[in-house]
Amino acid sequence: MNTAPVNSTPAPAATRTRVLTGDRPTGRLHLGHYFGTLQNRVRLQQQGAELMLVIADYQVLTDRDVADRLGEHIEGLVLDYLALGVDPERSTIFTHSAVPALNQLLLPFLSLVSVAELGRNPTVKDEITHSRQSAVSGLMFTYPAHQAADILYCKAGLVPVGQDQLPHLEITRTIARRFNDRYGQVFPVPEALLSQAPLLLGTDGAKMSKSRGNSIALSASADETARLIRGARTDAERRISYDPESRPEVSSLLLLAGLCLERDPHELAEQIGDAGSAALKRLVTTAVNDYFAAARARRAELAQDLGHVRRILHQGNARANAIADETLAQVRAAMGGLVAAA
Ligand code: ATP
Ligand code: MG
Repeated sequence: MNTAPVNSTPAPAATRTRVLTGDRPTGRLHLGHYFGTLQNRVRLQQQGAELMLVIADYQVLTDRDVADRLGEHIEGLVLDYLALGVDPERSTIFTHSAVPALNQLLLPFLSLVSVAELGRNPTVKDEITHSRQSAVSGLMFTYPAHQAADILYCKAGLVPVGQDQLPHLEITRTIARRFNDRYGQVFPVPEALLSQAPLLLGTDGAKMSKSRGNSIALSASADETARLIRGARTDAERRISYDPESRPEVSSLLLLAGLCLERDPHELAEQIGDAGSAALKRLVTTAVNDYFAAARARRAELAQDLGHVRRILHQGNARANAIADETLAQVRAAMGGLVAAA
């Protein structure tokens, strides 16, 4: 085992905690994204962390043949980020297909995990079940190692994610540790940051997901939000109570209202009492529409200038490339001689 210290070009001085997280450009961001991770991202940015947001465009192809309306979805994600408080002056938004050195890290990283470890990942298994493809592609199978490249290329210390991402983050942590053990210290071992709503349920009672037709988009209109919440699955019991174990759908709605209103979901359940699901849904609808009204208006305004969105991405991609080039140089040096010809 080579544990010699790495002495290549130093990485850009990480004076601030770096936070990496991101989304697949498969559709509009939804309430699960906001309360699962986006709210934490913005908080961390406001506390002074350097936020890196990856728009995971290659990973769209993990569960489908073609990346439909990719440009539109990417612009949509950037608009959602900006409308909800991501500041492009302080944060970096990039698409990972635009950062070749990041993707090159996948090769050494794949050598550090076994096929059995990749196969055991419960989130990959779940995504295979919901995949639109009849056969599992190599990209789906290696998705978590690719995600390790997304996180480690910028040496992120903190990764605000939803619960489904925890198994992936474990693989990233394993890869970072194994790389450091084998080649010398290069990567910090990142920590996950979960929110109070790490698994918000969709209108069908399963994890809210952009690709599964059960989500309420952050950018939905007030009417669309009302219609979707009205159709959300609940249960037959009239009295409303907060019990995520035995009443997941009702509890997820209470949690959603609680997060919007900054109220305890138990208290909201008490308040609704015997008024039943219809009253609960009315409360949730008003809470969501009030909470997101300003951001929705801001998004509509920002959407008038897509040139601005493209400039932000261009800037973000340039910064991500500079960081990835430095990290890849360090990795090559640490691995002993994998240095690109000058
Ligand atoms: P897709 O169905 O296309 O996979 P998705 O809705 O699962 O879309 P992703 O882009 O895969 O969204 O996930 C982006 C981030 O949002 C991840 O950190 C993920 O954990 C988080 N997230 C997604 N859905 C939820 C949810 N329902 N509750 C909490 N966090 C979520
Ligand atoms: Mg997903």
